[in-house]
Amino acid sequence: MTPDPGRSPAGPPAPLRPAFYVEVRHGDGRLAGEVRLEPEFAPVFECVRFSGIRNGVLPPRLDASPGVIEPVWHSTHGAPYVQALLAAVRDGESIASEEIGLEYLAALVKEALSDLVEQGKLAAGETCQYRIAVRDAPDISGVMATPELVFELEDEAPPLRLESACLADVITGSEPYGPGVAGASSRDDVPVVMSRDTLEEAVVLSHQAGDDETGGFLVGRLQRDPGTREIFVRVTAQIPAEHTVCSHMQMSFTPETWVAARDAVERRGLGEELLGWHHHHPAFCRKCPVERRATCRLNGTFFSLDDIRLHHVCFPKAHQIALLLTSLPDGGQQIALFGWHAGTVAERGFRLLNAADGTGGTHAS
Ligand SMILES: [Zn+2]
Ligand SMILES: [Zn+2]
Repeated sequence: MTPDPGRSPAGPPAPLRPAFYVEVRHGDGRLAGEVRLEPEFAPVFECVRFSGIRNGVLPPRLDASPGVIEPVWHSTHGAPYVQALLAAVRDGESIASEEIGLEYLAALVKEALSDLVEQGKLAAGETCQYRIAVRDAPDISGVMATPELVFELEDEAPPLRLESACLADVITGSEPYGPGVAGASSRDDVPVVMSRDTLEEAVVLSHQAGDDETGGFLVGRLQRDPGTREIFVRVTAQIPAEHTVCSHMQMSFTPETWVAARDAVERRGLGEELLGWHHHHPAFCRKCPVERRATCRLNGTFFSLDDIRLHHVCFPKAHQIALLLTSLPDGGQQIALFGWHAGTVAERGFRLLNAADGTGGTHAS
């Protein structure tokens, strides 16, 4: 970290940082209340940084400086109201930035609305309007967060390990699976290629687990196409998770789980890294009456709040993914892949390699 040239010994005024508020109005326009939001932007910055690396704007390094959020003022209502946010990440002289829609704050807004209902400022079920406002507030977090100051942080970041491989060759004969892979979607997620053996092993594990959740790790490499420069995620194997705490509704990793997984990756000696995890949801809906299953929230693929939390904490890198196998009451199974998209965890597609992946074994023990 370089010394901050903006700070004199005399002590400048406390730095400001943007503070986010939701302003809620009744249907007739009267103000119902204003609630401060505390969004966590680290996943957004991580996604912006990774997009920047994929596009060749930023050098391939694991973490760069923290990013900054700038308001995109509302085109009709003007400041302090915003219609979007601009997230920017800098590495040296290069900057990557991306516009983030306000839906990123949707969960926090929902919480704020129920707080107002609890305080009696809003009636339950009442139609209301809200706007997001951004104002400068004194930074009491101790983190330097005005744009100029943040960009002075220059911790040495380790390189992002990228192997060279031709994507077109790798995916020859592969099958698209899930949304957005066959070119139908405009979403620009990093391509993920998975060997069929990996998927089949995860399926076998899920059948063995019966009514409990079970899971493991996805390992492989990040590769970059020397021609197109596109980066892609190459999943070569899965490693069953050991020492987990499993129950009907949830699976948790323990410290021993991580030690065992890292040992297993090392024993394989193939230079792989942990790319994500896989887990299984038993047929939660099996006990529901048959006539209710068609509309039951538990019947089918869903990434639960616990799943999202685990992914946030354990797999925060923008290229890290989660494979979910869901058993259905009729004995069938759904397969879905989740990954980071603009700072949130969303379902995404992948390509399934039919041939055995030649990059060095597909079975992990
Ligand atoms: Zn159900
Ligand atoms: Zn789950």
